Amino acid sequence: MRYVIIGNSAAGVRAAETLRALDPAGEITMIAEENLPAYSRCLLPNFLAGYRDRESLRIRPRNFYEENNIRTLFGRRALAVDTKAREVKLGDGTVVPYDKLLIATGASSSMPPVPGIGGQNVFGLRHLADAEGILKACAGARRVVVIGGGFVGLEAAYALYGQGLEVTVVEKMPHILPQQMDARAAGIIMRDMQAEGIRFILGRGIAEIVNPGLWSRLFGRPGKGVILEDGERLKADVVIVATGTRPNVDLLRGSGIAVNRGIPVNEYMETNIPDVYAAGDVVETQDSITGRRGLTPIWPNACAQGRIAAYNMAGQKRVYGGMIGMQNAVEFREVPAIAMGLTQPEGEEYEVLTDYRPERNLYKKLVLKGDVLVGLILVGDIRQAGVYGALMKKKADVRPFRHLLMRDDFSYGHLLRQAG
Ligand SMILES: Cc1cc2nc3c(=O)[nH]c(=O)nc-3n(C[C@H](O)[C@H](O)[C@H](O)COP(=O)(O)OP(=O)(O)OC[C@H]3O[C@@H](n4cnc5c(N)ncnc54)[C@H](O)[C@@H]3O)c2cc1C
Repeated sequence: MRYVIIGNSAAGVRAAETLRALDPAGEITMIAEENLPAYSRCLLPNFLAGYRDRESLRIRPRNFYEENNIRTLFGRRALAVDTKAREVKLGDGTVVPYDKLLIATGASSSMPPVPGIGGQNVFGLRHLADAEGILKACAGARRVVVIGGGFVGLEAAYALYGQGLEVTVVEKMPHILPQQMDARAAGIIMRDMQAEGIRFILGRGIAEIVNPGLWSRLFGRPGKGVILEDGERLKADVVIVATGTRPNVDLLRGSGIAVNRGIPVNEYMETNIPDVYAAGDVVETQDSITGRRGLTPIWPNACAQGRIAAYNMAGQKRVYGGMIGMQNAVEFREVPAIAMGLTQPEGEEYEVLTDYRPERNLYKKLVLKGDVLVGLILVGDIRQAGVYGALMKKKADVRPFRHLLMRDDFSYGHLLRQAG
């Protein structure tokens, strides 16, 4: 059996090692545009902060590919998939035939279409090459503007602030972390970062990124940086764009493989074309909590999907039960925070329980649908994330201990006592 995997990251690597375990004699080929052994993107902010070097970003040992008898075609871009001829066409003209194909091409930084976005010292943060470029550009720099106050933007901001740079985060929405946190949670996290010295501009987007030549023509003095929608100018030596991601689906054009924003797959991680599977940030699956279909671009989901895809590619039927699509944890300065599931519900079917103590940087929010916990935000004290997360994953009926749920000491012990 010839297995071909496009992508060498969370989903691709997990699929490859699972396939090797299930089919010792199968031919496995991995194709990846980046010419590197697999590494953790989640650790790129640590790399920016100087806590990790290239080597310690690796997610598998040096000899992983040889040990697992995996043929690697790294440093090559897959340009097209011909699902009739069952082959993948690479940028260098190579044609790679497959019996079973996994598309694990992940996502790319999505860059807003503003003038200057492709200019010098303007970076996304998705690849190790981006992080290396940022560090190079930051050597000798003074000011950094981060566009986008989501997790990646904030992590980059905090890392570079730690390297001694002046950092401003520009967020178009009224609060940071708009997809994961509500205004209260975001407010606590932002104030904690402000206390450190990071500056925030909220509710305003950027209009343009301006290089030194244009800046001096426009403003009659030296400089470079960013112009906001309302005309305010921010000087910046380096600009990091962290305004979200878009799934890498370009290679599928004309292939017959269905694409919405990402690739829709069934519970076997199979696309609409037989023997073509997809996993990771590139796919749309059903969120186990909200039931909504969409992208769930986090590392643990990519790994779980890669594994399930591999089982099915190897002929062993396994169902992807869906994961909690949104699970994000952060800790920048002193305030840890975690968000899971549906955190900003709309509709009368939801009940929201909150405990907000901003003077102590504490916030707890639980979202219930009937008697089932479907979402949570914890800020300041996240020790209960495990027990609440377990209730969410099991879709447990919380009626027997509903009156205890918001207690600071609510724990597995309460569940056991109720059960016993
Ligand atoms: C800075 C940062 C921090 C993050 N922090 C967290 C975190 O704390 N927790 C968390 O859960 N998630 C985090 N994530 C998200 C996490 O990294 C992704 O969910 C995960 O990497 C997805 O893995 P993937 O295998 O689907 O694809 P990706 O990691 O995107 O890898 C895609 C692979 O496909 C290859 N590829 C793409 N297109 C082609 C092509 N046409 N031809 C050949 N090869 C191609 C690429 O070279 C790469 O090997 C973070 C992401 C970033 C960028």
